[in-house]
Amino acid sequence: MCKHVLNAQVAIRSPCCRQWFDCAQCHADTQTHDLKQTTEMIFACKKCKKCFRKDMAEFDESDEYCPHCDNHFLIEAVEPKARLEVEGEDVRKDARMLKDERIKAKQQYSVWEDEGEAARMG
Ligand SMILES: [Zn+2]
Ligand SMILES: [Zn+2]
Ligand SMILES: [Zn+2]
Repeated sequence: MCKHVLNAQVAIRSPCCRQWFDCAQCHADTQTHDLKQTTEMIFACKKCKKCFRKDMAEFDESDEYCPHCDNHFLIEAVEPKARLEVEGEDVRKDARMLKDERIKAKQQYSVWEDEGEAARMG
């Protein structure tokens, strides 16, 4: 199951390792090699479970539909989970940055304090 595109209507057969993936990110997560780029793509419709081939070089509006069941498979990806994960990462990053800022401020303060001591001692 694909966790990147929640409304995937088709699976895509990767031309490099000939396995089925819901999206390019699924391939990147499970494979160590780069996804081979090709204009001829093989899809499997999730609705009717049939496979079909599309030449992406001459893709037009009618090609957005499964040739077997007319399922509109080329739709805008719904990926709410991916967005939440990105937000979570940002929060953690911010927390780290805040902590670093505090450490830096403390160090600067102690340096200033030492200088004060030195100045007082003449
Ligand atoms: Zn591959
Ligand atoms: Zn995916
Ligand atoms: Zn179909």
